[in-house]
Amino acid sequence: MGLTKEDVLRMAEEMNVRFIRLQFTDIFGILKNVAIPVEQLSKALEGEIQFDGSSIEGFLRIEESDMNLVPDPNTFVLFPWKPKEGAVARLICDVYNCDGTPFIGCPRGRLKKVIAEAAEMGLFMNAGPEAEFFLFHTDADGLPTLQTHDNAGYFDLTPVDLGESARRDMVLTLQEMGFEIEASHHEVAPGQHEIDFKYNDALTTADSLATFRFVIRTVAQRHGLHASFMPKPIFGINGSGMHTHQSLFKGEKNIFHDPNSPYELSEEAINYIAGLLEHAPAFTAITNPTINSYKRLVPGYEAPVYIAWSQRNRSPLVRIPARRGTGTRIELRSPDPSCNPYLALTVMLKAGLDGMKRKLNPPEPEDRNIYAMTAEERLERKIFSLPGSLEEAMKNLENDAVILDAIGDHIWERFKEAKKIECDSYRMQVHAWEVENYLSKF
Ligand code: GLU
Ligand code: MG
Repeated sequence: MGLTKEDVLRMAEEMNVRFIRLQFTDIFGILKNVAIPVEQLSKALEGEIQFDGSSIEGFLRIEESDMNLVPDPNTFVLFPWKPKEGAVARLICDVYNCDGTPFIGCPRGRLKKVIAEAAEMGLFMNAGPEAEFFLFHTDADGLPTLQTHDNAGYFDLTPVDLGESARRDMVLTLQEMGFEIEASHHEVAPGQHEIDFKYNDALTTADSLATFRFVIRTVAQRHGLHASFMPKPIFGINGSGMHTHQSLFKGEKNIFHDPNSPYELSEEAINYIAGLLEHAPAFTAITNPTINSYKRLVPGYEAPVYIAWSQRNRSPLVRIPARRGTGTRIELRSPDPSCNPYLALTVMLKAGLDGMKRKLNPPEPEDRNIYAMTAEERLERKIFSLPGSLEEAMKNLENDAVILDAIGDHIWERFKEAKKIECDSYRMQVHAWEVENYLSKF
């Protein structure tokens, strides 16, 4: 868009803005914000608003806690659900150290770094995510339950789809905030929905995803519902994925398309796919960062389990949608919407670029149903599985220098520490399944 600081000041005045929310995400992708009155806006635009980094998870220790927020003028947008009088707008910020250098633990900064690496190769990434979510009822205290509001299924229409008015409101709100919505529909599971917005450059897409989750939850709440991006809230039905379509452009040209190559996929596209497959065991810790994420990556629920690619069927990790020309793209089906969108795009792009730099080649595309193969057949075809748990994924990540380089030491150290605590605390619990299976048996 190319907005300047002056544009932001003028728009804030024209729109009667009273408060600005300065937003950024912590390393887990949780949106944080500091509200300032509009009188502070020009100071904020100069990057002079400080906050205490030690109170943000994964940022800094107490002794070195002052940090600065540097807003990106392009992200200025009004919150449509707030009153027009005394309006509220937001700006997404990069996090800087107080000496004016970029903070190495800022997820948005990490994404910018790998985007710059692509730019050195004359390339930029376009990404289009499909974030799925559930709508649940809340109880008398307003707390979320696991009760869905309908029994509808894929693409079902009203009157079965009772969440439709909430979803319509979500789409309208997102559109008012500048999102170009391509489709919205009921997903396979009861109470499950998907709203797709148009692909964009990787940074804009990451910003949009952070905003998207926040808007969906806000609008759901106004309808008395709770929206959840938890990857697998209910056993026995589909979980929620965040399939990510990706392509690389040189100027106007999509370099993944080559009409003269097999499958009309360029050598670069093939190398990019190989990079994704090679680094998937490690980057899954970032694209699927919760214990619950691994309850989704199991056979039978349209989520990928095997590290393979395909032109046609939906079971492998990487699928190539039929579209060619400018629309040629690679769909990675493993990510889930509990990820930090900045870090998830960082590791996907890094993996693909690494495949291109090393000219990696993937195995032949797998168009048979991998779930129907025996373990021997899979082994013969060198089809391995995605990590089965967060612990396994973390071990793989620890051994993948390319992906670690993309997220940087600072984030890795904090992430590792936090995930260890998460895994340990889960491991010590006694789960309902254990009680059900062992209590009367032993
Ligand atoms: N919900 C499925 C998943 O967990 C995907 C369904 C679809 O193909 O859209 O990835
Ligand atoms: Mg879907």
